[in-house]
Formats: sequence, C-alpha cells, structure tokens
Amino acid sequence: MVYGFHPPLEEYLVAIFELEEDGITVIQARLAERLGHSPPTVSEVIRTLLKEGTVTKSGRGISLTESGRQKAQSIVRKHRLAERLLVDILGLDWHLAHEEAGRWEHVISDRVAGRIAALTANPSTCPHGNPIPGTIQLPDDGRVRLADASVGKFVSLVRIGEGAESKGETLSYLFNSGISIGTTLKVSKPLKPQTVRVKVDSRFVELDANVSQFLWVVDSP
Ligand SMILES: [Zn+2]
Repeated sequence: MVYGFHPPLEEYLVAIFELEEDGITVIQARLAERLGHSPPTVSEVIRTLLKEGTVTKSGRGISLTESGRQKAQSIVRKHRLAERLLVDILGLDWHLAHEEAGRWEHVISDRVAGRIAALTANPSTCPHGNPIPGTIQLPDDGRVRLADASVGKFVSLVRIGEGAESKGETLSYLFNSGISIGTTLKVSKPLKPQTVRVKVDSRFVELDANVSQFLWVVDSP
C-alpha cells in the first residue's frame, strides 16, 4: 500500500496492536514490513504518535499507551465483527472477509457494533480465530505455532494470526488447500528447507515456514 502523505494514524495503532498479538517485538522495521510503508514514512508517523501520546518508545521498542490501546481495540473489534457479519450472515467466503472488512471498520459506530455482535450470536473470535476485543476469552488451550508442532502429530487449526491474515494471497492459498479454522492437519516431514508440510485428508500441502509462524494449532482430539 502506498500513501502520498498523511497515512492514517489509526492504521499504525492497529498494526502495533496486531504485531503484539502475534508475539512480535514492535520496532519500526516490523511496522514498515507489515504496512508496506517506507522507513522514513514510519519514522515520521511514529513521531506524530509519540506527540499525540498514543505510543511510547523504550530503546527501539514501540508500545501503545492506554489511550492508543483503546483506539486500536475499538477498530479491531469493529473489523472482526464486520468479518463475522460478512461471513456468518452474508455468506462471503472467509478468505475474502479481511479485505472487505477493512472498508467497514472505520464507519461502524459502537451502537452498530453491538447490534452486529447480537446478530452473530456474540462471537468471541473473528472467522480467522482472532479474539474480538471486548469479549471474554477462553483460558489458554495449549495452542502452539504450527511451525513448532512436532512431525507426526495431528493438530487442529484454531487461529490464523494477522501476520498471515493480512496477506490476501496467503488466505486464498489456505482456503483453496482446504485449510480453515477447525481443519485437522497431520504435521509431516518437510521436503524443502523453509517449508512446513501438512496432510489434509489424503493430500499434502506445503506451507511457507514464515506463514506457519502465524498459524496456531492445538492437539487434535
Ligand atoms: Zn479475521
């Protein structure tokens, strides 16, 4: 994505929130990668955010202040509820929902967000398994990154982190490979370095090792 000037500041707060959620230390280089913005643009925006008091810096690390976190959570909540509406009610395929919801997240009021939550039976996660802020989350269910799951194990996909979700082609690849939330995968021996291989039903699917860092799984029952 390329912006002329004034990249939306909120987009940065959301990106910081989601990098933290994916377990990534937030530094400017990570933000530049996630958003596809140039390092000078990122530096300039971070300076503005420091001035408005929505982020703080310690060394190279960037984190949200309480007000920054509240703003980010409000947008993420609306985004993830919009995804629920698009998938559960309108019947859109889940791999298309992230991009579509990006257009809705800024126009949904708190009141409408509440109605969407009621209409979609108060979900605690988006269709990709990411937690909806403002809802009660279940305690840790022993999830691990697919990248760390042992070969030979049967696991079930519970969450596609934003690091994978924000890439449309990754979601389409998973969708077209028959991998969605709840799918059972058998972790298999990779054929090539930097890849992860899983068996879905009787088919093998190769995944990029970097993508598998953002796929969380639990032991399959
Ligand atoms: Zn989602």
